Amino acid sequence: MKNSIQQLIDEQLQRWELARSNYEALKSVRTKELSVDGHTYKVQFNPGRIVSSAAKVDKQSIKERKCFLCTANLPPQQSGLPFNNQYQILVNPFPIFPKHLTVPDTNHVNQLILERFDDMLDLAEVASDYVIFYNGPKCGASAPDHAHFQAGNKGFLTIEAELKNNKGEVIIEEPNAILYKLNDNHRTGLIIESADKEKTIELFEKVYHALEKGNDDTEPMMNLLTWKENDKWVVCIFPRAKHRPSCYEAEGEKKLLISPASVDMGGVFITPVEEDFKKITAKDIKTILEEVCLSPKKCKELIKRIKA
Ligand SMILES: [Zn+2]
Repeated sequence: MKNSIQQLIDEQLQRWELARSNYEALKSVRTKELSVDGHTYKVQFNPGRIVSSAAKVDKQSIKERKCFLCTANLPPQQSGLPFNNQYQILVNPFPIFPKHLTVPDTNHVNQLILERFDDMLDLAEVASDYVIFYNGPKCGASAPDHAHFQAGNKGFLTIEAELKNNKGEVIIEEPNAILYKLNDNHRTGLIIESADKEKTIELFEKVYHALEKGNDDTEPMMNLLTWKENDKWVVCIFPRAKHRPSCYEAEGEKKLLISPASVDMGGVFITPVEEDFKKITAKDIKTILEEVCLSPKKCKELIKRIKA
């Protein structure tokens, strides 16, 4: 599978002008690094992502647009690789990562994680050079009506290196699996590490069912990242308190067009607007995280429910 994914990327960049020029442009994209209480964040100025950051995801707008993940609506140049008889692996034509994939279900069904979390683990296994991510319907997914994962090459998100020496409170420890809290005061995250697929699913479901869900929501709000390392799955669960931070709606000086999703939670903030890229500070990132992540108090309650 590893080779066929690379072949797909090579083939698509050769014959699809839009994808080729966007990946070419990504090579000269500007980034800067900010430290929020010792945690490293990168900020990427990526004008191509305006489509996603500013995407209208309310019910009406979704109903009125043609779904860009349905096979019938894909550009003629786009081809895919089948995965698990249910998905296709596609090259994302608006990349954040030097290698960026979108993996939609072959059917137009709502974005929901519970029944397909095992597929996410399978994808991390077959695409072992990639970090797989999932954005909940109100947590950065620009197609909440069409189930999909995304994947980006390893070595890009700062959280990968960070996790190596950033284990916080242990919540559950078993011989072949561990669930712990990310040691970060502003970015609430729970981490599962296990080489056992069934155990990983079990722990994920435990967290899932302990999370609170809003009345209008189809599932608890969350972003997920997972990858495989030394035969173990690493799963980062970022429960969310809010879809978009207040700076997204603000006017004038205070406005920052930032709509955080898994990639931002993984340590890379995307700004499609140049002014925002120039002015964003570590303090802004801290404020955004505090607004969109679960509060420390809510996190404590969550951990209590998980342990109960
Ligand atoms: Zn669709």
